Amino acid sequence: MLKSLVFLIVISFGVISCDRFNPGKEIITNCVQGSEPTKKILFIGWDGVRSDALQQANTPNLDSLLQNSLVSYNCDRGEHTVSVPGWSTVLHGVWPAKHNLKENSFRNNRYDDYPDIITITKQFKPNLSATVLTNWDDFLRITSNENYAQRYENDQQVTSAAIQLLNDCTPDMMFLHLDYPDYIGHRLGFSPDIIEYIGAIEVADFYLGQVMEVIRERESSFSEEWMVVLTTDHGGNGTGHGGQDHLTQTRKVWTVVRTPNGIQQVINELNSVDLMPTMLKWLDIIGVPNLDGTPLI
Ligand SMILES: [Zn+2]
Repeated sequence: MLKSLVFLIVISFGVISCDRFNPGKEIITNCVQGSEPTKKILFIGWDGVRSDALQQANTPNLDSLLQNSLVSYNCDRGEHTVSVPGWSTVLHGVWPAKHNLKENSFRNNRYDDYPDIITITKQFKPNLSATVLTNWDDFLRITSNENYAQRYENDQQVTSAAIQLLNDCTPDMMFLHLDYPDYIGHRLGFSPDIIEYIGAIEVADFYLGQVMEVIRERESSFSEEWMVVLTTDHGGNGTGHGGQDHLTQTRKVWTVVRTPNGIQQVINELNSVDLMPTMLKWLDIIGVPNLDGTPLI
């Protein structure tokens, strides 16, 4: 198992993604010091991780997180089972009927009417700093008003940059997007039976452990309290996931909400739109109009 993990990490360094760069958004690199002394948010998106595969994978770092988490393996991510609608639902807090995105395109979006979590947070707390790090360019276009928005060549670089930024300026909100599980799913299959797909999830868990080491150190040294939210945008079937609104393995996803003093709790059914009001409430922002979900804690 360890051997295959090391192998997959080495492979994940080498994923060529240069042709995927779509400079539709200006890269911003201001490492602005966080202003909120206590309550902070780390959001981690693992693209394309199926619930049953996640539960089968060997994920010691996630297991450790679950001790203080609310978790669901049966969370409805809504219709239109590709990434742009999925991440838009999570980070704008509304279903596709409102944000209007049904494919991997931003055409005809209604982001102005239904703003993203960073934009809304800054309407209430303009001094909060926000960082978005990804190796999938379109993820940068889901949100706006970041202080730092950067793309990288692979998940290892995203993780290293996150650790550096946490140590250098400790933003109040950090959003990370890891793409390697989706990449392997498309090539070899989104299935618990595909050892490489399971391995890709275990690599993501390895990176989670690296980031959580910094978070836990900060919590004990600086009295910070981090809400850590992990989720995915879709599962999959075969080597795809689009047009699978009716398939449980694609549409029903997992979601984790960890707080430092949280109690382990499994919730059967919830919705991806609940995550944004949950994160906003952690920052004492409540009563935002037009959101489709409700806070989970
Ligand atoms: Zn995909």
